[in-house]
Amino acid sequence: MNFANPKSPFDLSGRRALVTGSSRGIGRAIAFALGRTGAEVMFHGATDSPALREAVAEARKEGVAASALVADLSSSADVASLATGSAGPDILVLNASVQSYGRIEDFDDNEFLKMFQTNLRSSFQLVKLLGPLMAESGWGRIVSIGSVNQGHPAPRLAIYAATKAAQKNLMLTAAREWAAKGVTVNTVTPGVIETDRNAKILSDKSFADSLRQSIPARRFGRAEDCAGIVLALCSDACSYVTGADISVDGGMSL
Ligand code: NAP
Repeated sequence: MNFANPKSPFDLSGRRALVTGSSRGIGRAIAFALGRTGAEVMFHGATDSPALREAVAEARKEGVAASALVADLSSSADVASLATGSAGPDILVLNASVQSYGRIEDFDDNEFLKMFQTNLRSSFQLVKLLGPLMAESGWGRIVSIGSVNQGHPAPRLAIYAATKAAQKNLMLTAAREWAAKGVTVNTVTPGVIETDRNAKILSDKSFADSLRQSIPARRFGRAEDCAGIVLALCSDACSYVTGADISVDGGMSL
């Protein structure tokens, strides 16, 4: 086996990671998991928010080498600055996204463009700018956070679901392009994970109860539930896993 640390193939010491949207929610849990396993972590948020600062401070308190990067992914100029500011990370987790609800006839072009820029075009830009640097170094990990909506769009999430489907597809080509250069590219696909994003919708008790009943595990996920598989995919242990799409959904997609 060709592990950097043969005793612990999950050890990420010496690796630098950028996790988009890690001020809160799933991204934050992923950033902490990578940091606790030895990676230097660049936390990221849309703004220099108290949540972002708190995440970095908390990680540093735990001994993680953590820093903060701010970029609004709805601006392609900001995305380009984020790529430059991250200075060629070994690990890129594409986690940030936005989602708006509506019927197709209610969405206008601006909403379409905002979701496509923030969710898909920013991922394309980051992968295009950072993937070749990983390939040049001979080691890299890209993990994209998908959604159950990419295969089965929920009502009123047409544009968000389409961005996630396109993003999953983009990862397949990226996986193929850099597979021989030590760079893996995978998608991790959450089901219903309790975060700020769905707090309002899940506060409707009867809706939440019936949704929970539709999940074989009979519970919603926690942000931390998504972190373990991302950690594994980012490690040497999963160097032969690329182009995969792994569900973290308590069986929801069965
Ligand atoms: P969340 O709690 O809403 O957090 C979103 C994160 O993305 C925050 O860090 C936020 O930064 C950042 N972000 C939002 N808009 C941004 C922008 N324009 N530019 C830069 N950063 C931006 O989200 P989450 O529930 O943890 O979801 C994380 C990922 O999992 C998303 O891709 C989502 O689609 C996917 N997912 C979630 C669920 C779920 O049930 N929660 C299910 C399936 C898939 P600020 O703090 O600065 O706003």
